Amino acid sequence: MAVLTVSPAAVLLLFVTLAATYVLVRRRLQTTTSATQAAKVERDEHSKIRHPPAEPSQLGGTLAAALPDSVTLPDARPAFKSAVNKYWAQQECEVTPSCVVRPRNAEELSKAVTIIKREYDGQASKREPTGNRSGTSSTLFAIRSGGHSPVAGAASVEGGVLIDLGGLNEVCPSEDGHSVSIGAGAKWMDVSKVLDQRDLAVVGGRNSAVGVGGLTLGGGLSFFTPRYGLVCSNIISYQVILASGTIVTADATNNPNLWRALKGGSNNFGIVTQLTARSFPTSKIWSGFLYLPSFQASKVLACFHESVDVPQSTGVTGTKPDIHAAGPIACFTYVHQLGIQAISVNIVYTAPPDKEGQWPEYWQRSPFSRLWRLWSTCVTRTLTSATDELNILNPPGKRQSFATTTIKNDQATLAAAHEAYASAILAFRKANVKNLVFTLVLQPFPSSVSQNDCPLPLGLNHDASGAALVNVSFTVNWPLAKDDETVKALTRLATEEIDDFASANGTGHRYRYLNYCAEWQRPFEGYGVENLAFLRDVSARYDPDGLFQKGCPGGFKLWETDN
Ligand SMILES: Cc1cc2nc3c(=O)[nH]c(=O)nc-3n(C[C@H](O)[C@H](O)[C@H](O)COP(=O)(O)OP(=O)(O)OC[C@H]3O[C@@H](n4cnc5c(N)ncnc54)[C@H](O)[C@@H]3O)c2cc1C
Repeated sequence: MAVLTVSPAAVLLLFVTLAATYVLVRRRLQTTTSATQAAKVERDEHSKIRHPPAEPSQLGGTLAAALPDSVTLPDARPAFKSAVNKYWAQQECEVTPSCVVRPRNAEELSKAVTIIKREYDGQASKREPTGNRSGTSSTLFAIRSGGHSPVAGAASVEGGVLIDLGGLNEVCPSEDGHSVSIGAGAKWMDVSKVLDQRDLAVVGGRNSAVGVGGLTLGGGLSFFTPRYGLVCSNIISYQVILASGTIVTADATNNPNLWRALKGGSNNFGIVTQLTARSFPTSKIWSGFLYLPSFQASKVLACFHESVDVPQSTGVTGTKPDIHAAGPIACFTYVHQLGIQAISVNIVYTAPPDKEGQWPEYWQRSPFSRLWRLWSTCVTRTLTSATDELNILNPPGKRQSFATTTIKNDQATLAAAHEAYASAILAFRKANVKNLVFTLVLQPFPSSVSQNDCPLPLGLNHDASGAALVNVSFTVNWPLAKDDETVKALTRLATEEIDDFASANGTGHRYRYLNYCAEWQRPFEGYGVENLAFLRDVSARYDPDGLFQKGCPGGFKLWETDN
């Protein structure tokens, strides 16, 4: 690394940044150095959570009688507690269902859905007239795969039936290596561990602990997205339990509209039990984080702007977009406990570099290679190792919130996003939200997200100007429930500040990535009128009585419009 001449002020800043980065990295090291330790931390965090006894429920009793080996009732205290406490966000662990159904196969789940639907129909006569899909909910059940949504109630239900898909986690590659059957309750680590051994991969999640079900049904951003598009674009078929309890296949020829609707439509059509993903040969990948002092923020923003792909042309630097290059994911983090900030940037190349121990040529030529940094963790490794790195940085057990927006890759708008982040820090300081960690995340939506064999119903299209799109998100964690409303209000304010700037400058985009949305956001409105009408039609056809709209109100619904 080049020798630098630095002023005393820079030395001071460096010291402060080192301290901030130390805290971030210490979090990582303390949390775990191995998957086993991560699991232990998860258990320890969750053992602190207490559940008040749930009300006995008649529906729970009926389910337990029909499926005695797959239903856990609250009276089975330790088993019930451990079945509930499998969420990433603390606030989700505090929601107590009346029973947990953990099916061992699609047939058991079909039986459970049939029983729940009967209960729903029984309640319907006491409710508003049939056909009203946006009315009062019956709040009967919730569906959970990996439990990583931080949206309150998305995969949890107070006093209702929690359907836990964690038992449906089988991963079976086809003999020819072209596809993989994946249980919807699997985590991405279950998938990559099997595929790494065969030098295969799928377009999947970047964090090993996240669930296959939720990520895939919301869209899915992957290290392989620049090459193959979103995760959902690579799903050949889904096995789905419909509201009637019927088990169907949705693919390009069977139920093609349902197949398309599941590519971003989340939990609005049925429960996906298994999906078949396209797989492809791969070797090790090159990935890791660059850690930088916060005084490099404006340089990082400039590098980000420069290196994000520009469709149908060459990049500003003359570098052609390279389908193996994923990211950069630029994270600007404020650690309230210390009152300091740090920057980390995730960069990935989905093939090993030409020369071992060196950066791949694409990233070597990118402006990031010239940025002065504290250190980097970039190495050639398995996909499992790369996704474990992101998991270790995001342990469970804290209150969590996301919010998101989409902008064009415009320098002034990126700067405005960073200014909104900086203003929010001042507000958080004033409110003194104890132990808060607040992060602004910038990542590109590569042009590949809008190029698919099957047109996605997302409305995520690049416009004629060809300007690349950027996902801007906030991720926040904090420990105390008393701060929930402050955190959400300030995060919302910061997000709306960016939206206001972008719409005034013509650099906004209506798309909001569902999997990063806050509960006050309405991702389906951002899909556009035609796509929303399509999704509603599919819902009306496959779920005519609205079981998944009103009986399962968690997550983002097709008929909600209020904010
Ligand atoms: C630490 C972390 C890292 C992340 N990394 C990425 C990333 O790299 N790329 C990316 O695109 N996103 C990422 N996300 C966002 C992630 O996609 C969402 O949080 C997603 O909801 C997680 O899916 P899950 O199955 O774990 O969640 P869950 O909380 O179990 O489910 C989320 C929603 O999907 C519904 N659902 C889940 N499974 C099914 C099913 N089988 N059938 C019907 N409905 C279902 C649930 O009802 C719920 O509403 C990340 C999130 C976190 C917290």
